[in-house]
Amino acid sequence: MQLNFSGLRALVTGAGKGIGRDTVKALHASGARVVAVSRTNADLVSLSKECPGIEPVCVDLGDWGATEKALGDVGPVDLLVNNAAVALMRPFLEVTKEDFDRSFSVNLRAVFQVSQIVARGMINRGVPGSIVNVSSMVAHVPFPSLAAYSSTKGAMTTLTKSMALELGPYKIRVNSVNPTVVLTAMGQKVSADPEFSRKLKERHPLKKFAEVEDVVNSILFLLSDRSASTSGSGILVDAGYLAS
Ligand code: NDP
Repeated sequence: MQLNFSGLRALVTGAGKGIGRDTVKALHASGARVVAVSRTNADLVSLSKECPGIEPVCVDLGDWGATEKALGDVGPVDLLVNNAAVALMRPFLEVTKEDFDRSFSVNLRAVFQVSQIVARGMINRGVPGSIVNVSSMVAHVPFPSLAAYSSTKGAMTTLTKSMALELGPYKIRVNSVNPTVVLTAMGQKVSADPEFSRKLKERHPLKKFAEVEDVVNSILFLLSDRSASTSGSGILVDAGYLAS
């Protein structure tokens, strides 16, 4: 699917690695101007070399004040991808207050904050927009040692619908993508036990995990006018897992 985002400005969080990084590259290749937000500056430096002209912003999205300072005046944004997240693995009984707070501040609170900044800008300019929240299939099905992470993604389902409801009248669409395991740094950590990983893959009807490209394609579809009547929705990129 060839999409053209020329004339539009996109903001992608968690742009340094994995799905976020490839989303920036795809948007850049499709003509968008891209604001790439991430935590590790070296990742943004190497990404800027690969995608000349992108606007790197280095900030810890778990820090409300720093995020306000870094993105409060970000300027016009037409397309937003809330992708940054942490997956802190710990059995439910051992989850600490720090785990809980970090998970929710990065994975959910920052989505509120960045989306508010971006949506206010869209409304003030009177332009339509599209927001994609990168969620997970664990919003719908539990995984061992991921109670805190899964809770943030479950909440993201409701947040996506709430945003779609309140921002729809301004022609701002809000959707999510919900992938199964993708073998990025995060995915490798979550599926590190070889036996668990083998059994998990076997349970997928398509007998595989998802590729980064599969997730990026769904993000681009939801950002584009090809999904003009879709809002408050989620695309499963789960190799059929939830049907199993
Ligand atoms: P990675 O861990 O590979 O990359 C995450 C990126 O987000 C990194 O660049 C990281 O920067 C950045 N990031 C994390 N925390 C912050 C923060 N506080 N402030 C700014 N940037 C931050 O993850 P994936 O690419 O795998 O995941 C992307 C999205 O996809 C996430 O929302 C995840 O929940 C979701 N997802 C992933 C799956 C998987 O199996 N990989 C499955 C389902 C959903 P740094 O490294 O510098 O911290």
